[in-house]
Amino acid sequence: MPKKLHPQTQAIRGQMEKTGFREHSAPLFLTSSFTFDSAESMAASFRGEGDGIIYSRYNNPSVDELVAKVCALEGLPAGFATGSGMAAVFASIAALVQQGDHIIATRALFGSTHQILTSILPKWGVRFTYVDPENPETWSAALRPETVMFLTETPSNPGLKLVDLKAAGKFSKDNDLLFVVDNCFATSIIQRPADYGADLVTHSATKWMDGQGRVLGGLLVGTEEVMEKVTFFCRHTGPAMSPFNAWVISKSLETLHVRLAAHCASALKLAEWLTDLPMVKAVHYPYLPSHPQYELARRQMTAGGGIVTFELAGGIEAANALLNRVEICTRSSNLGDTRTILTHPATTTHSKLTPEERASVGISDGLVRMSVGLEHVDDLKTDLLLGLQP
Ligand SMILES: *Cc1c(COP(=O)(O)O)cnc(C)c1O
Repeated sequence: MPKKLHPQTQAIRGQMEKTGFREHSAPLFLTSSFTFDSAESMAASFRGEGDGIIYSRYNNPSVDELVAKVCALEGLPAGFATGSGMAAVFASIAALVQQGDHIIATRALFGSTHQILTSILPKWGVRFTYVDPENPETWSAALRPETVMFLTETPSNPGLKLVDLKAAGKFSKDNDLLFVVDNCFATSIIQRPADYGADLVTHSATKWMDGQGRVLGGLLVGTEEVMEKVTFFCRHTGPAMSPFNAWVISKSLETLHVRLAAHCASALKLAEWLTDLPMVKAVHYPYLPSHPQYELARRQMTAGGGIVTFELAGGIEAANALLNRVEICTRSSNLGDTRTILTHPATTTHSKLTPEERASVGISDGLVRMSVGLEHVDDLKTDLLLGLQP
């Protein structure tokens, strides 16, 4: 294929080579291992020669196809696919730090990422400091001689606060830190951290990439240098993605750009509509001019994303009433699905945080997270009104 294709074309045409059956749609390689023509070719494979296909914990054609497509979408040369987004996030840190190292992370990370930093890494002597995502000028106060990594996520979940990727890239470069970005919320269709110098980008493919709520998956894509370490770590610790899940997600990538455009268009419409409702105290959406970082959103994102969060004046009772009364929207903790999903972060995804921690990342009791699906937007409005009206 010509190299200069648009990412969306690569997500469609970046298929593996055809087998002898001349199939049009890429086949699924549901096999744990591969065979060799001779003892010599097997030995050569283990020396790192040949096509490198040996065992599905290392790689597999179905998985490799997915990884190659995500590399094209993110504009990064190398990658590895994991069984879940958290396996990717954990590998992105564990493969690159050692005892005594220190990480600077923006506050308001995904709940389980917060658990890795607070409860798992300290067991191995790796420390971290949270910094304010919105104020890059305050970050240098957190620097220590042993700081090796800047870890961030933008937009954040569920507060939809943005981190200035250009500032984060510069801060990381100036201080010789690995710059690691969880790009799950925006996806590479909307935002490409590599354009700002990211060394490593992670995804929960469970979300928008699969987009239909079927399979779990995670992706790591990065520079050759960083991915060499990450791949070594993953091959030997075993978080590999199932070929079946890779096959499903790879097919989903063919429609990612059209799905995302539709998700974002509906999300913006609903965000605007919610803003005018009296029972809604505040609406958070990066492409609403009322978002405090609207200008930044326009600079680093090509659309506002598929998540809208809003605060109900009636607090927890109003949030419960909304979640209990809707008939189309689903109560679930997932996001990035064709079906609109409502979540109440304070009592579910973020219930493990203390009330102070929740307050510090903007999660009030009346906050509802909506992952906007692909249903007709008028049906969604009617459904939401069932739950919003007194
Ligand atoms: C869901 C999510 C993850 C974790 O992904 P899983 O596939 O559920 O393991 C990590 N980061 C963000 C931003 C997410 O939304």
